[in-house]
Amino acid sequence: MEIDCLFCRIVAGQIPATVVRETDTTLAFRDINPQAAVHVLVIPKEHYADVATLTQADPALAGDVLGTAAVVAETEGLLADGFRLIFNTGQFGGQEVFHAHAHVLGGEPLGPMRA
Ligand code: ADP
Repeated sequence: MEIDCLFCRIVAGQIPATVVRETDTTLAFRDINPQAAVHVLVIPKEHYADVATLTQADPALAGDVLGTAAVVAETEGLLADGFRLIFNTGQFGGQEVFHAHAHVLGGEPLGPMRA
């Protein structure tokens, strides 16, 4: 656990979150500032700064994050109409919280991606 990391503190139960799924290695919780009708974040419990670092260090754990995201998409009812899965990474990617996380977005049409 990184003491100054917001998402590590959520994993530790020090900051509240609306958890929708938890596994041994991952946690999924609702985004506090949703950008779509459904907006869930999926994180590895272990701290990695971003998805590239995570995948290089522990590809199985990166797979766990994807697996939890897929289950969340199903339980949130997103499979029929589709959804978006995003890992914002680094400065140009608009990453603000440096604990790797997937955004699961859906529940409404999301429009085109833009730079
Ligand atoms: P961006 O803000 O550009 O999406 P990130 O990809 O780093 O940057 O995403 C961080 C996400 O974490 C944001 O969508 C933000 O709303 C969310 N967030 C910040 N604090 C909390 C919190 N306490 N609980 C749940 N989600 C949070």
